[in-house]
Amino acid sequence: MENIYERALRTWGKVPQMLQCIEEMSELIKEILKDVNRHKDNLSEIVEETADVEIMLEQLKYCYGIHQQVEEYKQGKLLKIAKRLDDWDREHDNTIAGN
Ligand SMILES: [Mg+2]
Repeated sequence: MENIYERALRTWGKVPQMLQCIEEMSELIKEILKDVNRHKDNLSEIVEETADVEIMLEQLKYCYGIHQQVEEYKQGKLLKIAKRLDDWDREHDNTIAGN
């Protein structure tokens, strides 16, 4: 059965949905900036815009047929980040031990 993401993409088309994706990402950027720059109490807006972006990213993956590639790249990237965090922790411990 066709899911909502695929149905939205088929109904409204690639270009409008990818423009919507860009628009939602910009809305999330705006809310993050409001929080970190101006310390606005906008958690509910951040929640809404994060959900909007996740919905559009899901459509983007259907649009380009890249679910598998994104997942594989993500797993590799998370391993690299984990290694960098381990290195960071080791360096931090070394700095403290060296003082
Ligand atoms: Mg939005």
